[in-house]
Amino acid sequence: MLKKCKYYNNHQTAVSLMIDDLSPIYISYDNGKIKPWYDWGYERFKKDSLLDYFYKNFLNKFPEVKGTIYLPLKSEDGLPKTSNSGMYIKSNSFTDKDSDFFDSLSLFFDFAFHGLQHASYRNNDVTDKYIYETENLKLINYKLIKDELENFYRISNNVMSGGKFTGYHYFNEESFELIKKLGFKWWALRLSVNKKKNNSHSYIKIKSDKILDLPTNLNGNSFKTYLEKSSNLKSYYYSLKKFYRKIQIENYLDYLYSNQYVITIQEHFQNQAFNGKIQTPNIFDDILSLEYIYSIIRGCDVWHVNNSKLSHYIESYDSTNIKKINENTIKIEYSGSWNKMFLSFYSSYSSITNQKTGKIIKGLYKNNLWIYNNLEPGLYTI
Ligand SMILES: [Zn+2]
Repeated sequence: MLKKCKYYNNHQTAVSLMIDDLSPIYISYDNGKIKPWYDWGYERFKKDSLLDYFYKNFLNKFPEVKGTIYLPLKSEDGLPKTSNSGMYIKSNSFTDKDSDFFDSLSLFFDFAFHGLQHASYRNNDVTDKYIYETENLKLINYKLIKDELENFYRISNNVMSGGKFTGYHYFNEESFELIKKLGFKWWALRLSVNKKKNNSHSYIKIKSDKILDLPTNLNGNSFKTYLEKSSNLKSYYYSLKKFYRKIQIENYLDYLYSNQYVITIQEHFQNQAFNGKIQTPNIFDDILSLEYIYSIIRGCDVWHVNNSKLSHYIESYDSTNIKKINENTIKIEYSGSWNKMFLSFYSSYSSITNQKTGKIIKGLYKNNLWIYNNLEPGLYTI
């Protein structure tokens, strides 16, 4: 009579564009000139900034996009001091003056924890070992991180509800205890892109608690090779291989969609890395691939959503029961860790009554069913 919708408004699935490492930094190999492919966020929305490029060439075409930015809170502190002579590195910090900047980004994205400095090079030398910050997370880091999260809230008015370890590296159980203590409700623990396995969410058990583990399952650069112009000298075999790969990714997208797995797209802001290499995937190089992905998705029944709302929804789905009390009465019970239930329901009945308030609630008609997006736990007459 009343059933839980797998996704909000009974959508088939949910899509989130997840971009790592927005930082107030740029690295130029061109006499210090700033171009979109050198910028990591240093220029904010100025002309020739990466974000200006990204908005003009992608977000303006797909205003429905929602997603999550994994933000290292103090990445400018992790810059290597030694650099090669042709490399210009500049940084400034995110400050109170950036509140408008974060407001603009918030129209599309929420923000998630991704370390303080992200990573560093041993001896500050870019030719030496790259050490991910979260390899060594300890409970004694609690106060330091908590202060930076509060500072970020002051600047951006955003509460981070989840995050990701840098480079997916983590040290031990203490890392999990720390993220639980910091109040995070979800985490992107695993990277498993373009594979038909581990596509469902799970939970990280931390003593008697748990945190939702969201999968990361589609590479933003998936169609890049297919869309690249190839010279006439390339063989027929090469073209066939490219085409075959394209079909494989389209099939994979169809598999995620048909099985109602979330579609979570992995990307980075950086193009140029400190070691002179190109970071893959990155939104500058993958702009056409992202356009291709979202063109396919546009014709589908998906919920565009950021990770915070998505996690809240999934956790509510897993933590809500519908009990049949008698012929006409049901009880909705929520036992999740968020302060309230966030869940849609469907029914063949066009209205139901909240027994406590006496209010008659009308459903929204969609695909031969009536959808209820704003119910609270309690007793209902069907
Ligand atoms: Zn990162």
